[in-house]
Amino acid sequence: MPQFVMWKELTAEDLRAKAAANAIVVLPVASMEQHGPHLPVGVDTILCEGVCKAGAEMVAVDVPVVVAPTLWCGMAEHHMAFGGTFTFDIPTYRAVLLAFLKSLERHGFKRVFIVNGHGGNIAALNSFLPDFARETSLKLRAATYFELAASDLAPVLEDQKTVHHACEVETSMMMVLAPSLVKPDRLPEAYGGVAASNAPGGWYAVPARFRSFKEFTPSGVNGDARRASRQKGEKLLAICVEGLAATLRDAKLWN
Ligand SMILES: [Zn+2]
Repeated sequence: MPQFVMWKELTAEDLRAKAAANAIVVLPVASMEQHGPHLPVGVDTILCEGVCKAGAEMVAVDVPVVVAPTLWCGMAEHHMAFGGTFTFDIPTYRAVLLAFLKSLERHGFKRVFIVNGHGGNIAALNSFLPDFARETSLKLRAATYFELAASDLAPVLEDQKTVHHACEVETSMMMVLAPSLVKPDRLPEAYGGVAASNAPGGWYAVPARFRSFKEFTPSGVNGDARRASRQKGEKLLAICVEGLAATLRDAKLWN
């Protein structure tokens, strides 16, 4: 029997049954933003939803779970200069997420796992957690999918240790999940950026400042997509899916 885990494919009756079974709601949150010359703007949404679906299907026999529709817009001001990008501001993002959580709460769900697929959302999501804990009765957890198994990703990679942007990792995974959307003829240009993130001008420099991607990577790529391959993508996706599945199986997460 296939496990049906995708909210958008279920009936309202199915979803009432999921709530009655105390299902974990996986809420994927991603972005719609430039990803260099070789990848579509939907990368974070495609990859995050793909990992959430596969991870939920992996555990669904033992763990009641449902994957809510992916929030395709996030915090992407740093990509706006390239075009092709949508962004929220902080009050709007907070309001949209809170509306989603309140909807889940009203339907009787009790456990929500926000699974993020976009680096630019991390700071916002962490800052929302105290507010959401106060303003809902939900047990709420949040993680970025590629951080759930971060140490396992590094050995697969040649050019980087973790996920950057439109890079070796994201390009490799897109070669598996949506190969027809990767433009091989643009790969030779698909590299740039990569200052150490805590170096002057890096993301986490002290003192901090906002910086558009355009200032440190004219291509829009942070990393080197020329190192990408389908074979790496299969390994990276398997690691990310297993990382999410292991977290969903961990009953202590909800203590
Ligand atoms: Zn991305």
